[in-house]
Amino acid sequence: MSWDFATEPEFEEKLQWMSTFVKEEVFPLEVLDVGFESLLSLMKPLQEKVKEQGLWASHLPPELGGGGFGQVKLGLMNEILGQSYLAPFVFGNNAPDSGNAEIIAVGMELSGKHDHREKWLEPLLAGKLRSAFSMTEPNTAGSDPKLLSTRAVKDGGEWVINGHKWFTTNGSIADFLVVMVVTNPDVHPYQGSSMFIVPVDTPGVEIIRDVPTMEHPEEHFGVFGGHTEILYNDVRVPAENMIGNEGQGFLLAQMRLGPGRIHHCMRWLGQSRRAFDMMCERAVSRYAHGSTLAEKQTVQNWISESMAEMTAARLLTLYAAWKIDQEGSSAARVEIAMIKYHGATVLYNVIDRALQVHGSLGFSTDLPLELMYRAARAARIYDGPDEVHKMTVARSVLKAYKAVEVPSEHIPSRREAARAKFASMLDTLSANN
Ligand SMILES: Cc1cc2nc3c(=O)[nH]c(=O)nc-3n(C[C@H](O)[C@H](O)[C@H](O)COP(=O)(O)OP(=O)(O)OC[C@H]3O[C@@H](n4cnc5c(N)ncnc54)[C@H](O)[C@@H]3O)c2cc1C
Repeated sequence: MSWDFATEPEFEEKLQWMSTFVKEEVFPLEVLDVGFESLLSLMKPLQEKVKEQGLWASHLPPELGGGGFGQVKLGLMNEILGQSYLAPFVFGNNAPDSGNAEIIAVGMELSGKHDHREKWLEPLLAGKLRSAFSMTEPNTAGSDPKLLSTRAVKDGGEWVINGHKWFTTNGSIADFLVVMVVTNPDVHPYQGSSMFIVPVDTPGVEIIRDVPTMEHPEEHFGVFGGHTEILYNDVRVPAENMIGNEGQGFLLAQMRLGPGRIHHCMRWLGQSRRAFDMMCERAVSRYAHGSTLAEKQTVQNWISESMAEMTAARLLTLYAAWKIDQEGSSAARVEIAMIKYHGATVLYNVIDRALQVHGSLGFSTDLPLELMYRAARAARIYDGPDEVHKMTVARSVLKAYKAVEVPSEHIPSRREAARAKFASMLDTLSANN
């Protein structure tokens, strides 16, 4: 039997290097008051160091320059990267480019369209192109993507796309959009949807705005991380821009989303840990009502509950990663759904408590907690709202149960059955008494 919670020493060394590098080289970038484009320039020498360590775009398969690490190791790496929102850029796996690169890579395997590599994938990986993933629509429920209404109709060697999307993260600064559309409304949506690469300068692509959000309340158009509203008006793309084959939109989304959720959850744990460290530091430093906050039972409860919640979420996530490595994403469907809602809740709770322990300082922008808090709120919505993942888990669990007239544990019924089972022995006992 093999049951091991340890990390190999050679890999532990890599994790140690990453951890020190992120704290010493990436954290300081967070507080420089310069625009995102300047930050990207400042990151270039750091990216070279990451490449020298063989840790660049490590989520990709080895044939595309990734490390072939498997999900458990990638999970542990993402826990470190999650501490800073800039670290994924330094390590070549920032969303949504990293996920889109995977979609294009998988699509090439499925369809044999290998020219996508040179045209889209390699420039994307090299940071020469930027992408966005355009699936959610304002007028249909994103939590039920079977309802998608954006349509693509074939016209000779082209597809013509019409529809309305929003929350396309980075849509206003992207060079191309990966768009999910219905290509055949006459079959089940799981077989009737496809993905296309749409360059943003294609006639008919109308970028309306970056939607202001609680994450970026004072959003300006065309900034990194904006959530963009886009109209597709008779947008014509050549048939070779389809990713994978016709009808494989959901398949591509599923193949990408499983491992992606492991990375998300481990990054959330990196964020949670950062907030947790701040909470503990403040607890031992702040004095009120005759003792430090660390000596108040409520604060002790927050610390102990947060520690247990983070540890449980970490084990659950690493278990899901291990299951993907052993049996593949679809076998780990329930575990992946569990970590999504559990991880998002732990992230939110830990940051909320850390903010509370800091009082007005926590609410102020003198600390990163308020920004972390606003970003954490979104985690319960994106990547499928928590409630939908809970539905998946409950449905799967309930398949093992049958409706009964009398509960299996009904004590009077069990007593009657037990009496029948032991009748002769009971008779002997009572005769002897
Ligand atoms: C920060 C952020 C970034 C995003 N980035 C992208 C992106 O890059 N590309 C993209 O395409 N989309 C993106 N999205 C959109 C995201 O995927 C959708 O918001 C999400 O899928 C939910 O869809 P919806 O907003 O239409 O909510 P709806 O589908 O309208 O759901 C609203 C609420 O209904 C409830 N609900 C739904 N179904 C059930 C159920 N079965 N049981 C109980 N309750 C239920 C849930 O509480 C849910 O939050 C992003 C969203 C956020 C917040």
